[in-house]
Amino acid sequence: MLEATVFYENKMNEECGVFGVFYNDNASEITYYALNALQHRGQEGCGIVSSNGNTLKQHKGEGLVRDVFSKTDISRIEGKHTIGHVRYSTSGGSGILNVQPFLFHSQQGQLGLCHNGNLVNTTTLRNSFEQSGSIFQTTSDTEILAHLLKKQKGTMLERLKESLLYLEGAFAFLLLLEDEMYVALDKYGLRPLSIGKLNNSFVVSSETCAFDVIGAEFLRDVLPGEVLKIDKNGIESSFYAKTDLHHMCSMEYIYFARPDSDIEGINVHAARKRCGKQLALESPVDADIVIGVPDSGMSAAIGYAEESGIPFEIGMIKNKYSGRTFIQPSQDLREQGVKMKLSAVRSIVKDKRIILIDDSIVRGTTSKKLVQMLKNAGAKKIHLRIAAPEIKYPCFYGVDFSTSNELVSARLNPHQIAKEIGADSVAFITIDGLMSAIGRDKSYPKCGQCVACFTGDYPTYIDKNLKGDINE
Ligand code: SF4
Repeated sequence: MLEATVFYENKMNEECGVFGVFYNDNASEITYYALNALQHRGQEGCGIVSSNGNTLKQHKGEGLVRDVFSKTDISRIEGKHTIGHVRYSTSGGSGILNVQPFLFHSQQGQLGLCHNGNLVNTTTLRNSFEQSGSIFQTTSDTEILAHLLKKQKGTMLERLKESLLYLEGAFAFLLLLEDEMYVALDKYGLRPLSIGKLNNSFVVSSETCAFDVIGAEFLRDVLPGEVLKIDKNGIESSFYAKTDLHHMCSMEYIYFARPDSDIEGINVHAARKRCGKQLALESPVDADIVIGVPDSGMSAAIGYAEESGIPFEIGMIKNKYSGRTFIQPSQDLREQGVKMKLSAVRSIVKDKRIILIDDSIVRGTTSKKLVQMLKNAGAKKIHLRIAAPEIKYPCFYGVDFSTSNELVSARLNPHQIAKEIGADSVAFITIDGLMSAIGRDKSYPKCGQCVACFTGDYPTYIDKNLKGDINE
């Protein structure tokens, strides 16, 4: 019996996902399916730019991939090479103008451009371009790269490497020319990006789950600071900057990425399960059942149950067909509209002492509603265990919690949070626990992983106007 339905808003959003195909007769169709697989990374808008070797064409729109593209749209932009994008806006605002990939026409030729991540020094750069007469077509941070490219001299590869030196922040760029594709990852390696092979074609994706969907073989991950030129001769690798430090976003493992993706050799579901085990070791509590918040709390819940010996149960159901209203990304609209429907399974949770596992707490409003829902369904006790450390600082790298004020852990300790949301106890995984459970690198704090939203220790320079948002 399902009871006590609540509406629960999406907690946080990744900015984007990118996908590219080089040299395939079905490039646009392949990109369509791959973007569907990356839909969890952005639901506000999507697009594809294709090239037939001579001309670039574009189709883009607001909404989900399945709604933006018809069969006719795909045929109209059919080409040999494509870049595609799914977007959730954190920088530059929403609207069709900012939906990517962008398509630029200049004396140097045509250029398709898309980007996952967020640049943290574009205000200064944009001001200086505008003062010297440049006109921007969009309000997105991505466009700055097109303006930088125009200013440089030399081959496209040289101009790109020179331009990237001006940019700070998180980026995974895909650029498409008539018969060349370029791929670039920021020198901190903040966002995932992998290359694969599909017969004689190359494919590039924000996540490896898209390779599985289209039947491509994973080749390798793009390295921090690496620039790839892909043309009829194959892949040429070089670096615009070299660094020993690697700062993959921890939230990719905790929340964003699909469980079937591997990020730099580590499967996301397996990492989440280990986090659940670690949480059970760090914060044990006596209870009758362990339940996970669908979807991204489920893997950690299985891990917690395995380690603690307390039975895992399905205590909540997500209604897959409740409709996706993600196209409204502002906080205001999120509060009014972006809600996912979850229901408690009354016969499972009634009279039980429950360990409720969630992947993270951002604003705390979701947790409060979930606790209330379980109590309404008859739960006796609710101990909330969180498979992420306390998020106390904003993210400037493409995740939409950009001020400390909105973060409940910036204001309250776990005991106070428990009181505020009506739980019997709240505990978070430690940063060391998270690092060892994910298992990327033993040399923490040289880390191999960005943990800035837990520690406030940002790996990059950040524009003063952005940093003003941090409560120190
Ligand atoms: S600050 Fe947090 S969310 Fe942002 S990139 Fe770093 S780990 Fe990811």
